[in-house]
Amino acid sequence: MLGISPACPVPNRATLAPMPSRALIALASLTLASSALAQTTPPSSQTPTQIQAPASAELDPRTPTHADILRGAYGPDRANNDLLYYHLDIRVDPEKKFISGKNTIRFKMLADAARIQIDLVDTLAIDKILLGATPLRYTRDSGAVLIDFPQTLKAGTTQTIDFFFSGHPIETGRFGVFTFKQDASGHPWINTACEGIGASLWWPNKDQWRDEVQNMDISVAIPSNLVEVSNGRFLSKRDLGDGYTQWNWHVHYPINNYDVSLNIGNYQHFADKLGPLTLDFYALPEDLDKAKRQFSQAKLMLQAYQHYFGEYPFIKDGYKLIQVPYAGMEHQSAVTYGNHFANGYFVSPDWTGVGISPRFDFIIIHESGHEWFGNAVSAADPSDMWIHEGWTTYLESLYVEYRWGKPDALKYINGYKSKVRNLHPILGPHGVNFEPPIDQYFKGILFLNTLRSIVDNDPHWFKLIHNLFQHFKYKNILTEDVVAYFNQQTAPHLHQDLTPIFDQYLRHPSIPILDLAFDTAHTVRYRWRTDEPAFAMPIRVGDPAHWLTIRPTTQWQTLPTLLTRDTFQVATDLFYVNVDKS
Ligand SMILES: [Zn+2]
Repeated sequence: MLGISPACPVPNRATLAPMPSRALIALASLTLASSALAQTTPPSSQTPTQIQAPASAELDPRTPTHADILRGAYGPDRANNDLLYYHLDIRVDPEKKFISGKNTIRFKMLADAARIQIDLVDTLAIDKILLGATPLRYTRDSGAVLIDFPQTLKAGTTQTIDFFFSGHPIETGRFGVFTFKQDASGHPWINTACEGIGASLWWPNKDQWRDEVQNMDISVAIPSNLVEVSNGRFLSKRDLGDGYTQWNWHVHYPINNYDVSLNIGNYQHFADKLGPLTLDFYALPEDLDKAKRQFSQAKLMLQAYQHYFGEYPFIKDGYKLIQVPYAGMEHQSAVTYGNHFANGYFVSPDWTGVGISPRFDFIIIHESGHEWFGNAVSAADPSDMWIHEGWTTYLESLYVEYRWGKPDALKYINGYKSKVRNLHPILGPHGVNFEPPIDQYFKGILFLNTLRSIVDNDPHWFKLIHNLFQHFKYKNILTEDVVAYFNQQTAPHLHQDLTPIFDQYLRHPSIPILDLAFDTAHTVRYRWRTDEPAFAMPIRVGDPAHWLTIRPTTQWQTLPTLLTRDTFQVATDLFYVNVDKS
């Protein structure tokens, strides 16, 4: 597939170019799609049919493709069941760059049905799908696998299927999905990272965001001279007697599909503890000293986030940090790291341009923040991914505040202004595998800082975000859930519906404009100019030495002031707004 998903970590310089065009992705999907439906035919025997695609300019960049809808929609063949458990049991052959294995999928039927949808990219073979000993028929369609059962599965019953697959995974996308590399000493270095582009590009699963398994086992067979690190708690190693060793991990918590990760290499291991939490680190031998120095930041990071949100959410699985050859990813309890053991972000050492980024390792602080927002609290649809990225970018500023205080945190937050585009709304449609714009990160942090200024009571704000995290921990939610929670929790203090504020920042490209009209009679008229007619937001204005809080709406109001057009100021570091003085 072409195009770059707005995946984690935040886009680098290259991806700060214009938005990836869905049209390009559409072209790729059309090219990859085999002719209509291929009934139970192994893909290896097929030649992908080249479908005449329209010129990219003719496609609306936001028009979802057939594949987007199959991937993105929570249709009846998905909604009729609830995932309980996966056991991904896979063998990785570094020489042949070949994978094979099975995923055991356990689910509970929520409705009577004889068909479910699982997903696996068409370029990997389905060797068989079994219900017990019974082979199941299936239909492949643009990455979806529609599995038919010989009889209706009754609502309330628990079912288990074994989905056998194999093939050569195709390296694709910004992080490669499944990469067979070598380290400097010639050892295989094999990693997976597939956020945005999809976990079904390398293993069969229900590739959507709404439904997660309750827990999971991961078994990975690799050449015995290598080390394998996956999510969850290490259980055991088993010598298979053929030069391969199977590594077994157990994930005790719900997990996003794209978080499931393999990391295979000549890894060296070192460990630490933070209270009851185990910390396990993996780096290549030549980088071990650098890793021991740089990874020590993980402890401070964990302390900071635990301070604001409570105990690390995957304590039974522990916290792991693993060196990889790409930038890094928030793989649950197995965060990956490729920031070259230096502070800042390797694409731009002073990432926010205000001199604060060089004080810490951006990838450790950002990717690990996702353990709270992204992994423990997850969006139920990619359309609402700001719940991962906006919040985690805000967590960066909380780390800065914890270490160096609120003034530096404010500076850091406002350093992100230069990266915001305000061209597209942060939120998009549900059910079409929507890719949010990069504003979900940068406008996301500025919006959350604005919300804090609206609340205007730091103890209350910190209690609010702590309780929000605890309330939604291990759940898959939408923006509406966040808004409802904020409204409920702030109602006794603010006496106002925050919905139009959320809507203006998340559902429109433009930020609010504060219109200020000065006249000669020592008064200023003021109002909000917004897309949301019911928009009303307090803001601090006047003299920064003693701000005055006013409560503009979209209707003109008048305020007496001795300040002039030039000396009348607005607290735009606390509220992300534009000001129009006339
Ligand atoms: Zn991120």
